[in-house]
Amino acid sequence: MNGIGLFGGTFNPIHTGHRKVAEEVKAEFNLEKIYFIPSAIPPHKGMDDLADAKDRFQMIMDAMPPGKGFMVSDVEIHRQGPSYAIDTVRYFKNNLPVSTPCFLIVGMDAFLEIDTWKSFQKLLDLIPLIVMTRPAQNTKQSATPSVELEKYIHVHVDSGYEFIPQESCFVHPAKQSVHLSHVTPVDISSTIIRNFIRQGVSIKSMVPETVEKYIHKKGLYL
Ligand code: ATP
Repeated sequence: MNGIGLFGGTFNPIHTGHRKVAEEVKAEFNLEKIYFIPSAIPPHKGMDDLADAKDRFQMIMDAMPPGKGFMVSDVEIHRQGPSYAIDTVRYFKNNLPVSTPCFLIVGMDAFLEIDTWKSFQKLLDLIPLIVMTRPAQNTKQSATPSVELEKYIHVHVDSGYEFIPQESCFVHPAKQSVHLSHVTPVDISSTIIRNFIRQGVSIKSMVPETVEKYIHKKGLYL
């Protein structure tokens, strides 16, 4: 059976970078579906400037083409307290057939902080990760992505991981794999978009047209 991807984030707002990398990862890993999972209370980001979860959810619905295997999950929105990835992964694992391969999808910048996530070791016992490269200003990268990742994993996660270059994957005898996906660089972030809106600069081409219209209609991020 084809796998399922779990793509969490604040999506404040969703942008064309999110959409492009999700499409590429879906094709590369032959995934049947990717769930976009907007967080309600992001544990690692401030709540300032955070649009209502319902608006962020609706913008993802508007951004993703229907019938192409991209779904939006409200599981974090309906859960009380901070939106921890470990709880979300457990929820999906409990609700999907055991035989369904599941992957947690994160950008390089997010992965390079995973040692600050709740129960991150358990997370790596539970689910393989797909780490997507991201243009350098959003990460602390100086070396190539695989070298940077290897250094980080060995220091902060587990020194037992070994990089297999042919598979672009870190493997471990007991823990789940960490796949490195070299997606096309898209130099867009939600932070830039929010700043542009405040400055009155056009965000066309940074977000899908439907999202741009929604933001203006609702007066978000002003
Ligand atoms: P912000 O600027 O508000 O921090 P963001 O643009 O990083 O937001 P998030 O909603 O935090 O967007 O991103 C969700 C996930 O998507 C994260 O794992 C992030 O690393 C990844 N991601 C976001 N934009 C890109 C991009 N352009 N290329 C690759 N990964 C990305």
